[in-house]
Amino acid sequence: QCFCELIPKIELHAHLNGCIRSSTFRQLLSSPTDQTRLDTLDKEFSVGDTHARMANVFEKFSLLRSCVTNLDDIRRIARETLEDFISDNVIYAELRTRPRSFHNGKIPSSSYIEAILDIMKKYEEKICSRLILSIDRTQTLEQAMETLKLAENYRTHIVGLDFSGDPNIKSFERFRPVFDLAKQINLSTTIHIGELPDKECINENNLIIDYKPTRLGHFNFRTNDQEQRVLKEQIPLELCPTSNLLTMNLLDLTEHHFDLFYKNKHPLAICTDDSGLMNCNLSSELFQVVQTFHLTKKELYEFIFQTSNLIFDKNMIEFCQKKLNIFSQQSNL
Ligand code: IMP
Repeated sequence: QCFCELIPKIELHAHLNGCIRSSTFRQLLSSPTDQTRLDTLDKEFSVGDTHARMANVFEKFSLLRSCVTNLDDIRRIARETLEDFISDNVIYAELRTRPRSFHNGKIPSSSYIEAILDIMKKYEEKICSRLILSIDRTQTLEQAMETLKLAENYRTHIVGLDFSGDPNIKSFERFRPVFDLAKQINLSTTIHIGELPDKECINENNLIIDYKPTRLGHFNFRTNDQEQRVLKEQIPLELCPTSNLLTMNLLDLTEHHFDLFYKNKHPLAICTDDSGLMNCNLSSELFQVVQTFHLTKKELYEFIFQTSNLIFDKNMIEFCQKKLNIFSQQSNL
């Protein structure tokens, strides 16, 4: 565990609001009814099958969204998230968030983004962080186009476009034009894939693989053919142990697809997904992998080193690899 804590780490799949500290979440909830609702959701967090667990998580997201009501709230969440990553020795983090406006549009989504970017710049000395904008499965095409435009406008610190949200809504096809445009302007993309065991969800996997995004998130449920395509086309995967175990209804990582892809030397990143809601950090996620699959210190180091090649801000690869090299020399790896 200690080595996992000490090693410089790279976070590539973290939803900003999902990183909220549970103490902050509680403080932001104003009404006693909401507090009671959160208590119930916490109690039922890991009960039931994949669908029940997903429904619980998405109800929490909706509660969370309702209590983040102004720029100060999002500044606080961004600040605390970066502080938590810094204390966990994360040296580079790509945080993703769905842009939103407040006060009926009086505070536009550009202000939301600028508030986060300001915090990121303030912490630049301690952690290098970049933003990915999320398109939510429930949005309209128009809203998604707006998000793409925002990403274009803040190109230096916004490094990609994500597709996420409630996987019960199969809408990748509808958003394909936006993702095609992203490709045309060389904006990296990461798409959530295979989050539910349903036929429709698994069918949608084909459309997503056909698109060939820069990276894929999760890929929990899939066919053998889809697995082979992703392996063959070398599309990097972002895997999130605690979150994946919850949605896949598994007790430990033994049956997790990390094993298969790792053995095939596939490009991989281990990530936290929603560290606040899942009550985890990157060290604990890596530790689960190390313990289950018996990785040596050197193997873990090499694993994180290959992850550095997957970051969207290619200018920062050298920065990450230098830090890792220094650590390796100091630890006699
Ligand atoms: P935000 O975009 O910063 O508000 O982060 C929270 C949002 O991320 C949630 O409302 C979900 O839409 C999305 N999200 C977080 N975790 C997952 C996941 O595991 N699957 C799909 N979407 C997710």
